[in-house]
Amino acid sequence: MVVRVAINGYGTIGKRVASAIACQDDMEIVGVTKTGPSFGCELAVKNNFDLYSTSDSTESVRKFHDAGYDCKGTLSDLLKIADIVVDCSPGKYGAANYGKYCDAGIKSIFQGGEKHSLTGMSYTSSANHSSNIGVDSTRVVSCNTTGLSRTLVPLYSLVKGRGKFSVNCVMIRRAADPGDSSKGPINAIKPVLKVPSHHGPDLMTVEPGIDITSLAVAVPTTIMHVHAITVNLPEGHGLSTSDVIELWSKSPRIIVMNGKDTRITSTAEVMEMARDIGRKWGDLHEIFVWEDGVSLLGDTLHYFQAIHQESDVIPENVDAIRAMMNLDDDWESSVAKTDAAISRSY
Ligand code: NAD
Repeated sequence: MVVRVAINGYGTIGKRVASAIACQDDMEIVGVTKTGPSFGCELAVKNNFDLYSTSDSTESVRKFHDAGYDCKGTLSDLLKIADIVVDCSPGKYGAANYGKYCDAGIKSIFQGGEKHSLTGMSYTSSANHSSNIGVDSTRVVSCNTTGLSRTLVPLYSLVKGRGKFSVNCVMIRRAADPGDSSKGPINAIKPVLKVPSHHGPDLMTVEPGIDITSLAVAVPTTIMHVHAITVNLPEGHGLSTSDVIELWSKSPRIIVMNGKDTRITSTAEVMEMARDIGRKWGDLHEIFVWEDGVSLLGDTLHYFQAIHQESDVIPENVDAIRAMMNLDDDWESSVAKTDAAISRSY
């Protein structure tokens, strides 16, 4: 069975999800939507993705044709030929689209800009793939929550049932994506004056057993987020710093490197290394952990991790489709399949 996937919203996340899906052998892209003729349409054409109008008006379809694009129809037309839609519209727009997907009788995936309450179900590959098997709708959590899940869930799983496991996290967030000229700050450090911030607690939508709070600040950078994380492990956990590093080194979609030895001492070098890997857009799907920034003293673990906000959620969307469409009920086998197909594509 090849699952037919529609992408509603072909922007930063949508174009990457479409590309990752197109290289899998058990799913295909049947079309992507744009709100109007713009430079993003060129990429859809180049990738042989059929183009549809986000709006259901015939006037909107005509505008594409007038600009020289072969627009195949409206969102409603696209939903008729799909088994599942990945909503990649801007944050908080997804809720208005949800009814259209339900009316079309197809499954839907939303992104981290939507609330968990929209679907009552959220997803990360490592935390709750099995809870998402066969569900009609879910939300792939945000880039930050995905990053937290990647490193905290394996650790939590190791010591689960042995006492309290609590986390405090400071999220140092990029101000805007590289292609976004509308956001800031550009000359300030801007705290999120809602304490705790929503970022950390969102992890509990995929792993309720982790007790976590967070503070967040936005800083003038575009390339990555950094998390400074403190974990309080249960007494008698029996782990050392090197055990934690070994655990993460063996866990999927985490890169652990020594900053001093490799001279990767900041997000600038992390993203330069990512560009060397050669993925499309210079993406880094993995969470980057500095080995020499990890310290476990007694029951308290400290570490830093860096998140490529535009891309860590991309392979998770592929795995979410596999869970929802009953293509693979084992998260590790899905992750391996997704990542191998992406690797073969560049
Ligand atoms: P974006 O603005 O880059 O892209 C959104 C696309 O949707 C644009 O092409 C826009 O024209 C289109 N669009 C506008 N109105 C629409 C509608 N009503 N229906 C469908 N499409 C519409 O945004 P993005 O960064 O790709 O974010 C998409 C989602 O992914 C959001 O929920 C966001 O919170 C989440 N997310 C973003 C990042 C990131 O760093 N950019 C990371 C993780 C998750």
